[in-house]
Amino acid sequence: MAGPAYVMLEDLRCVCDGRNCERALGENDLMLRMTTDAGERRAYECACGAVTVTVVR
Ligand SMILES: [Zn+2]
Repeated sequence: MAGPAYVMLEDLRCVCDGRNCERALGENDLMLRMTTDAGERRAYECACGAVTVTVVR
């Protein structure tokens, strides 16, 4: 039997919203995760101090 065809999307990367900062944010920067009706919201805190919020549907 082959394994499931889907892949985990946990590694979806995003980029910092900070001014002049394009640092890639990953799991290590994940500060907060919560699920709402609109999807899963994730807040990442960058080393530059900016917080970037993403929504994963
Ligand atoms: Zn940053």
